[in-house]
Amino acid sequence: MITYQGVPVYPGVAIGKFSVVVSDRVGAQKRVAITQEQVGAELARLDSAFRGANKTLEENREDATRQLGEEFGRLYDAYLLILNDAGLRSRIEKTVSNELVNVEYAVDTTLNQYADRLRGLESRYAERANDVLDLKDRLLHQLLSIRVYDPAETAEPTIVAASFLKPSAAAKLDPDKTAAIVTENGSIGSHTAIVAAAMGVPTILGVGPFLAETKDDTVAIVDGELGRLILDPTPDVLAQYERKLAKLRENQERLAAKARSVETYTSDGVCVEIKGNIEFPNEAKTCFEYGAPGVGLYRTEFLYLTSPNGALPDEETHFQAYKKVVETMQGRPVTIRTFDLGADKLPSGLRFTPDDESNPFMGLRSVRLSLRNGDMFRTQIRAILRASVFGRVQVMFPLVSTVMEYRKARMIFNDVRDELVEKHIPFDPDIPLGIMVETPAAVVTLDHFAREVDFFSIGTNDLLQYTMATDRTNPSVSELYEQESPALIRMLKRTVDVARTYDRPVSLCGQMGSMPENLPLLLGLGLRTLSVSPGMILRLKELCETYSIDECRELVNRAMLMESAVEVRMLLRNDWNDRLHLGY
Ligand code: PEP
Ligand code: MG
Repeated sequence: MITYQGVPVYPGVAIGKFSVVVSDRVGAQKRVAITQEQVGAELARLDSAFRGANKTLEENREDATRQLGEEFGRLYDAYLLILNDAGLRSRIEKTVSNELVNVEYAVDTTLNQYADRLRGLESRYAERANDVLDLKDRLLHQLLSIRVYDPAETAEPTIVAASFLKPSAAAKLDPDKTAAIVTENGSIGSHTAIVAAAMGVPTILGVGPFLAETKDDTVAIVDGELGRLILDPTPDVLAQYERKLAKLRENQERLAAKARSVETYTSDGVCVEIKGNIEFPNEAKTCFEYGAPGVGLYRTEFLYLTSPNGALPDEETHFQAYKKVVETMQGRPVTIRTFDLGADKLPSGLRFTPDDESNPFMGLRSVRLSLRNGDMFRTQIRAILRASVFGRVQVMFPLVSTVMEYRKARMIFNDVRDELVEKHIPFDPDIPLGIMVETPAAVVTLDHFAREVDFFSIGTNDLLQYTMATDRTNPSVSELYEQESPALIRMLKRTVDVARTYDRPVSLCGQMGSMPENLPLLLGLGLRTLSVSPGMILRLKELCETYSIDECRELVNRAMLMESAVEVRMLLRNDWNDRLHLGY
């Protein structure tokens, strides 16, 4: 039995076997010098990699033909043709024997050069460059013994493991086939963590190297609450976790069976709204069924991140997605956030941020990117406006730093509205416009915004990274990325106080709200609307009923005096532990 500690991202327990995801291109291969005597062995490895890659391609072709038809099966012929091109193979062999280098390096450089040459040709051939790079990965998977995750291959849900999972790759996982997610690298603030939470499966990120210890039949336990990964558990530990799993299921069933209303009240009768954060339209159903009084954050950028072949979604695709969410919520408000792309949310195949940004989280992302890509922005706004007649819509702009940015975004919004009026296309004329509060600049000038915006929603994931000058995805500095940080708590307090002074609705939609132990802090700071991962709605609604606002204020008074995140965390943990026995 081996136990690893990672960052807990989503609670729950899973017990099972692994599937390993290779979410990215295999990285550049190191050049390793070999001797003349080693050439034969390296070429034998190359031969076996070619045979393995051929075999999997043939299998893929058969599967695709069986499931989707001849036409799709034939797509693999192009790959097989390139792979079996004698010239390509002999070039790799020559690199090994003439330059006396390892075969991984020879495959990497030879196929990269081949892809570069294709890119320089007319577009019909240039498109083939990606096929060549895919083949390179297939050969390297064989050489490096990387097992590739294929959801089609698994009948039962499995624990998905990866070294690093990009948000776009996480978004493509099949929730029905995913029992849990564990990665070697990654952090709590990353969008991968958010996608994992949206799937509602136990998730631990940043466990450190463990993949080398796993085999096809390794049994693992993922404890999402404690951030613990256990490989090959002893019978005792396994039995203990099977009991824990049964208890969690029982609790979930109890919560699901409980009569629920949209309203939630604290023990002293104060109304609290627990809305849902969604990334995909079908999540709205869970929000509705769990009695969420609305969708507080719809992260529409996932339409771009999951779009096939990296193509931009067209207006109809946007419209259908928004209409579905708005209709599902049956008149409860849906806050649609305009696309928040850039930094770690980049659709593969689409280029609209500079390649050489040295600091992408400080760069061309979010509303900045929307203002720079007017056509894309207008397409989205048109679709939102058209969907607004099917229910209640609010529109929110992400990462706004200055009032001028907000005004520009609003101007484009109004411009698109005028265009629809001219074309007699119906829409709701009273759509509230709001901003995400996620930069310190927005917090300190909130009074300026308050005169012009209809509502605020606090994005603590980004607000924390910009307040602490700490990249939310960088594990080397994750000790500074603490949600209990006194600096963040002060930012929250100021935002809530100013919003209240100007009588502007304010909610919180960062991940902080989805963590039950933070609830008394957020209620005590004056927040009355939280938007959380759909899977946490029921738990949080029930938990609200156990707190009085007075005791929450009392807790905040103590927290405000504390000088470190550790002290605040202890305070929240102690309070939380007192409630754990209640089954929360
Ligand atoms: C946030 O920053 O808190 C937020 C909700 O937005 P995202 O996590 O999508 O950046
Ligand atoms: Mg954000």
